[in-house]
This record gives sequence, structure tokens and C-alpha cells, in this order.
Amino acid sequence: MSSAASATLAGICNIEDLSRGPLDQGGFLGNKRVFIRVDFNVPIDKKTGKIRDDARIREVLPTIRYAVEAGAKVILASHFGRPKGQRVDSMSLEPCGARLAELTGWEVHVPEDCVGDAPKKVIHDLRTASPGGQVRGAPQVCLLENLRFHAEEEKNDDAFARQLAELCDVYVNDAFGAAHRAHASVQALPKLVRDRGIGFLMRKELEALGRLVEGPDKPYVAVLGGAKVSDKIAVCEALIARCTTLCIGGAMANTFLAAQGKDMRKSLVEQDKLPLARTLLEKARDAGVEILLPVDVVVGESTESTSGKTVSVDAVPEGTMALDIGPRTVEAIAKRLQKSKTVFWNGPMGMFESAPFAEGTLQIARVMSKVSGFTVVGGGDSAAAVAQAGEEVQKGFKHISTGGGASLEFVEGKKLPGVEALRQGVL
Ligand code: ADP
Ligand code: MG
Repeated sequence: MSSAASATLAGICNIEDLSRGPLDQGGFLGNKRVFIRVDFNVPIDKKTGKIRDDARIREVLPTIRYAVEAGAKVILASHFGRPKGQRVDSMSLEPCGARLAELTGWEVHVPEDCVGDAPKKVIHDLRTASPGGQVRGAPQVCLLENLRFHAEEEKNDDAFARQLAELCDVYVNDAFGAAHRAHASVQALPKLVRDRGIGFLMRKELEALGRLVEGPDKPYVAVLGGAKVSDKIAVCEALIARCTTLCIGGAMANTFLAAQGKDMRKSLVEQDKLPLARTLLEKARDAGVEILLPVDVVVGESTESTSGKTVSVDAVPEGTMALDIGPRTVEAIAKRLQKSKTVFWNGPMGMFESAPFAEGTLQIARVMSKVSGFTVVGGGDSAAAVAQAGEEVQKGFKHISTGGGASLEFVEGKKLPGVEALRQGVL
């Protein structure tokens, strides 16, 4: 464990600790019903209903495999989409079960409901590997149907959590992306299960992000972008308290530039956030934190524009909007990054989904991937942008968080309900 993340992980068991229990020889997990909260909320192609990207399934395989090979009866549980408390066939976890089966060669059983007799029967009948991984036939695992088919999941309902608790002996959370939600399978349930802990993915996330909040090596350069200042106020404040330089790009930067009196023309500016932007700039000045705003931007006539033009932020032409940062800004950010020891990036530098406005974001991704310090990316769109920059760039990062909202809340210094519910004996 990195010592920097010690407070984050204090009192939290790893799945390996759970398997070193009283029945050590065969492994404590052998024949135990192990509930693993996973995040199978994968992106789906709206037209075909097919899984567009199965990274979320592949990321938790080490944990699932560990439990299967330890001879556990594995029960996987996840939410998927927003079915609002009723059964919606298009939001069934069946396709994820099929993909898991394809990836592993296991039999994946998906009972029609996540609580009650249907899952109980499936779990009772599961064929397990003998501890040590020998398998008599393909291993079988149970994937519970979408937790959000019950409104009680999002209400963190105790009775619902008790029904889930009836299904298992051990609880493991490996769904970092859902850890900021106080939902029944994330918060109420683990409190009802004595033997509880985290999987390998969750541990990786907490160790990496823990280094950003517990004494990060300096210089610490944060790069913030994305659509709105209002989404990122808390993280902005938290970063001002910790980092050396805060670079701001994306639509968010427009509001800061407008707050400094620049005419951003048709750019996305949150007029009601101008005073807040000024306050944040003052706070940074008082804290001795450098704020780096764009000096040039790539403008287009609308978000539909098929080409862009680079201009100074002092000369945004009438009838245009800033949709990316320009090369001089990329250069200025790159200079800070090259000297940094810790980097956190959230939020694309422009409307990267559209080719003429993607270059700023892609350049920042390329530069960051070559930084030798500790580089972390959080945020759904930000991670997608890094993926768009290619595998080489992706591999250059020390950590790419699988949790959008969860990684932001963590970096803000908030306690995540799904993590706190697992802590034993320490306060
Ligand atoms: P993340 O998911 O990484 O936290 P956000 O959701 O905050 O990031 O922001 C991503 C969105 O911001 C993208 O859809 C991108 O197109 C948009 N965006 C970034 N810069 C601009 C800009 N200058 N104008 C309009 N949209 C922008
Ligand atoms: Mg987003």
C-alpha cells in the first residue's frame, strides 16, 4: 500500500484479507456466498442495443476471478441505466451477463429479479470451483438483475438491503463508479454484513486518488475543463486549497475570462456565475495558487461548425464562440506540466467530440502522458478523450479513474458513502 493513501484505506479489508479467514486451508471464501457490487453500467448503442464498450466489465474481472477461483459462490450485482424503480426490459443486465460469459467461458445465470426466491434458488444451485481453482465443469456465477428495478435501491432502503443481505455471507464492493451514491447495495447492505471489503479495482482507485488528497508531491498541477463552472465549484475550491497551479480550459474557462471583462461573444458563459468566478480567482491569489486561463481559443460560428479559427481571447470575433483552447495556451499548460510531480485532470479543454475542436484536448492528453510524475485523469468525458488520443497516450497515464462523479467527490475531499460503509473499527 502506498503510505500516502493510508488514511483512505484504514480499517478497510481487501478481498485477499477476507479470504485469509479462520478456515485458512481451503480459503475462507470457499463455498461462501460472496456478493460483489460491480459497475456494469456500460454504454449501449441506442440503435442496436449492443454494448459499445465493455471496459467496465473487463476492469472487475480480476476480483470476480479471484472469488471464483477461491471456490466462492459468486453473486454479482449492479445498476444499469435509470429504470426508475420498475422492470424495463431494455435495461436488463442480460447482455452484460452474456458478455461476461463470452469473456470468461463461465456460465452466467441472471435470475429475473435481484431479491426473493429466484436469486436464492440460482445461488443455492451454483456449481463452484474447488478452492485453488480446479473446476469441475465451467464455473457458474450469478448476476442479479438490475438493482434499480426496485425503487428501494436508490432510496437506500433498509428492508431492501436486508433482502439482499439474505443472499450472501461476504460483501465486496468493486464498483468505484457508484461509491459516491448512498444507495442500498452500496451503503445500507454492507453495514449488515460483517465480512466486507473492497475488490482490486476499488483498491487501485482509492490508492491512486488517495495520493491526490493526502500530501501530494509538489508541484501539483491541476487541469480543469468541461462544460460548466457550476458542476465544478467544489472541486475548484478543493484544488485551490491543494495545488500549485490550476489550469482552466473548456467552456468553463469562458466564464472566468468573461469575469475578467473579456467579451466572449457567443461562447457558453454562465452569466450568473461571474461573481463566483471572481471569488475563486481571489481565493487562488490569496492562497498563492497560480491560475492559468487560456490566452488563445479556437472559435467557430456554432457547435455545428466544421472548421475553426484560432484567435486571441482579447479578440473573439462577433458571431463566434470559443470551442477549444489554442496552441499558445496548450504551450503554457505544457510548460507547467513538464515541471510537475503530481497532475490531476478533469474536463476536456474543448468540444473534443467534434474534430475541428478536439486538438487542444488531445494535445494536453499527449503532453500529460509523457509526464514522469503521478498523472491521474478522472471524469467520464475526460477518460473518453484520453481513449480517443490512442492506446499509447492512454498507457502513459499513471491512473485513469473509472469513476466520473465518484472521482470528483473524492478529490473534493468528500467521504464516499460506499467506502465509509466498509470501514471497520476506526473512526
Ligand atoms: P467530465 O465528464 O470529464 O467530467 P464534463 O462532463 O464536465 O467532463 O464536460 C465535457 C463536455 O464539455 C464535453 O461534452 C465537451 O464537448 C464540453 N465542452 C468542453 N469545452 C467546451 C466549449 N468550449 N464549448 C462547449 N462545450 C464544451
Ligand atoms: Mg461528463
